[in-house]
Amino acid sequence: MIKNINVALIGNPNTGKTSVFNALTGLNQKVGNYPGITVEKKQGSCRLDRVTKARILDLPGTYSLNASSMDESVVVELLLNKNDPDFPDVAVVVTDVENLKRNLLLFTQIKDLEIPTVLVINMSDQMQRKGIKIDIEKLEEKLNTSVVLVSTRLNSGVEKLKQILIDYRSISTLPILDSTTIDQDYFENLAKAFPNQSLYKLWLVITQDVNFTKLERQKVPDTTQFKTQPQSYLKKLQQRETIKRYQTINKILKETYSVNREEATDLRSKLDNLLIHKFWGYVIFFLILLTIFQAIFDWSSVPMDFIDSSFAHMSEWIKTQMPAGILTDLIAEGVISGLGGIVIFIPQIAFLFFFISILEETGYMSRVVFLMDRGLRKFGLSGKSVVPLISGTACAIPAVMATRNIENWKERLITILVVPFTTCSARLPVYMILISLVIPNDRLLGINYQGLTLMGLYLIGFLMAIVSASILNRLLKSPNKSYFVVEMPNYKLPLFKNVAITVWEKTRTFVVEAGKIILAISILLWFMASFGPGEKFSNAEQIVTQQYANEAINGLELENKIASFKLENSYIGILGKTIEPLILPLGYDWKIGIALISSFAAREVFVGTLATIYSVESDAEETIKIRMAGEIRNDGSRLFNLPAGISLMLFYAFAMQCMSTLAIVKKETNSWKWPSIQLFSMTVIAYLSALMAYQILK
Ligand code: GDP
Ligand code: MG
Repeated sequence: MIKNINVALIGNPNTGKTSVFNALTGLNQKVGNYPGITVEKKQGSCRLDRVTKARILDLPGTYSLNASSMDESVVVELLLNKNDPDFPDVAVVVTDVENLKRNLLLFTQIKDLEIPTVLVINMSDQMQRKGIKIDIEKLEEKLNTSVVLVSTRLNSGVEKLKQILIDYRSISTLPILDSTTIDQDYFENLAKAFPNQSLYKLWLVITQDVNFTKLERQKVPDTTQFKTQPQSYLKKLQQRETIKRYQTINKILKETYSVNREEATDLRSKLDNLLIHKFWGYVIFFLILLTIFQAIFDWSSVPMDFIDSSFAHMSEWIKTQMPAGILTDLIAEGVISGLGGIVIFIPQIAFLFFFISILEETGYMSRVVFLMDRGLRKFGLSGKSVVPLISGTACAIPAVMATRNIENWKERLITILVVPFTTCSARLPVYMILISLVIPNDRLLGINYQGLTLMGLYLIGFLMAIVSASILNRLLKSPNKSYFVVEMPNYKLPLFKNVAITVWEKTRTFVVEAGKIILAISILLWFMASFGPGEKFSNAEQIVTQQYANEAINGLELENKIASFKLENSYIGILGKTIEPLILPLGYDWKIGIALISSFAAREVFVGTLATIYSVESDAEETIKIRMAGEIRNDGSRLFNLPAGISLMLFYAFAMQCMSTLAIVKKETNSWKWPSIQLFSMTVIAYLSALMAYQILK
């Protein structure tokens, strides 16, 4: 018989919880969200010995049990709810050997909930360098629990931790702080009213505004009478509690912990001064970003081209191998290209997170955040929004995923909502063809108009992101105020295991979670483009062949005419025609309408769709361009003139035409609400700006 025990890893941010979690569970992990909220939930399992299996929960970082953020509420709610299937049999508080004093505050609070609590002192590899000495035995005695020195970097202490976990029943559950010393009368009355409850637990129930709907009513004592005290009085008691705890901790550490400062090296402060310098800090940051994006573009283009051509070949191969028919078309054109559309993002996601996790692991990211925070905070963003906003110029998908490490929910949400405004690489082919059609290739003072336009489009994207962030900042209510904790960890060499797990986890999440939605929409769009109602669609071949019966056109040309005719009469084609009155004021016709609708699969489809609808023989850009330049309006003027071109570019700059981004936003916000709002409002903004541009320039 295997015995299962629940283990919860708790600790301040950056103490190495996730590293300990990785050391214990390896790849036996799964990541999800807590029900109803977007806080990440990491679970894994670890075989402790032949008969014991531990289910390990990596809880969000928290400074204390006085919850002030959504992440912290998760921890408090779990620890107060014995009925939660994740309720820990044993809690492991992970601390950083250099910040032991601050870390122990949380430890004493958890211990006082009368849960067996083990103390892990992590990063013990730093002790020698920093001149730190700890008397472990004495500390165990004072804290009345098992203490273990761990270094996930050197992989030491993890086995000992496992041994302690096996033997968790022998850990004392006596509290450290006698709650009655906070306020004799108040706590004695409380003890009298609820004689069988942990005093400290009662105190948390009273003071914490956590979501108790999840707790079973009868299991939570009705403490309302103790809440009737004025709020300020409870606050005062809370402060007194913190002071008492620090007094106790100080006393214990004085006897067990010592630092010899002379042994510590001072490279860190020199490096800090440079990296957060008001001028050089930015220079260094942008050089690093430049290198990273260069690398992402260069390195991922090879696998991306490979993926692109492999899926194209696979699709061709299936067409030759399977009997012609709807099923073959579905697989070759709907499913395979849908899958290709998912897999194609993997290189970018993997590379971006490879770099991001290295920047985080080394401790550099905290400096960037410090540097950027003040500027971005004005717009409701966080210093950490910098990475998503800049990653967005490659692709919004990894950018949205990169918002995960913004702790404040409102700042994270705003970042997610505005990131798709930045000019991603899928807009480039659209911009390129439109610019070359409508913007003269002339120079003014040596500056090329076409290049200027392209730069303008990038700028307008960023500007729109910032402006909408400020508006959202006003509109959205914040559940908890954002306060900036300057947490500057030491510089470290990255742990390869952490980097690898991050990359793996992000890629997997995208493929599994967003992939489902992308595949479904691809198939839907394929269906809409490949089928149509009525005679015209089903008899397309006959109709077109008859139409051109007397003209000398070759087989390929005829095939293109048929494809074009079919698309025109397909569901998408009909939809494109239906919206024509709506897009006429923007300067577009129904053919552009069809391209707009298909672009919701992915923007780069624009050019290809126009090629089909104009029945151009080859996908070569030059041929399509000539064809586009030749399109004439009813009044004889060019269809792709300057007003219509600008209007289209603005539409592509602002519209949310990317189902993959919507899918990942759904995943990251855990609801359809935000992607719907995003789709709607971005489309409205795009429509209005395109309308204005066309009407003014016309
Ligand atoms: P969490 O925020 O508590 O989950 O902490 P992480 O596991 O993400 O680790 C924070 C940082 O500490 C990372 O940069 C890790 O590489 C680093 N780290 C983790 N464990 C150790 C260790 O034992 N020694 C050293 N020197 N660094 C560590
Ligand atoms: Mg973590």
